[in-house]
Amino acid sequence: MAVYNELNKGKIFLGKLRHGGDLLDELTSVCKANDIKLGRIEALGAVQKACIGFYDQVKREYKYFELEGRLEITNLIGNVSLKDGEPIVHAHITFADNTGRAFGGHLAAGTIIFATEFLIETLDGPQYNRGYDEQTGLPLWNM
Ligand code: ZN
Repeated sequence: MAVYNELNKGKIFLGKLRHGGDLLDELTSVCKANDIKLGRIEALGAVQKACIGFYDQVKREYKYFELEGRLEITNLIGNVSLKDGEPIVHAHITFADNTGRAFGGHLAAGTIIFATEFLIETLDGPQYNRGYDEQTGLPLWNM
């Protein structure tokens, strides 16, 4: 059974991130600086270096790896919620190389921005807190 709430749209933040910054850190910093506890995130641009994770559902652990070369961000979609009382960004990202081939996964630390434009839309409603989920081994929403 799906578990969900009806939420109201809040403020929208639209901007660009710092050249040379870590993509996941920069998005998290914007959320912390603006006290954003719940929202959705999208972004596009290009990176100097890409690092993504793939969750091994059998071993119940993330495998992290770097992608070769400088890449376009063709899509980033994610959300912000709370974990241990702090905003945490969960994002998945798709990159394209210089032949147009695409790769993607769970955005990990170590993805370095060349240029990135982002949008964060805040959502008003109950708190979404992440905690350990027995079934998956993932930090999912307790609701
Ligand atoms: Zn993920």
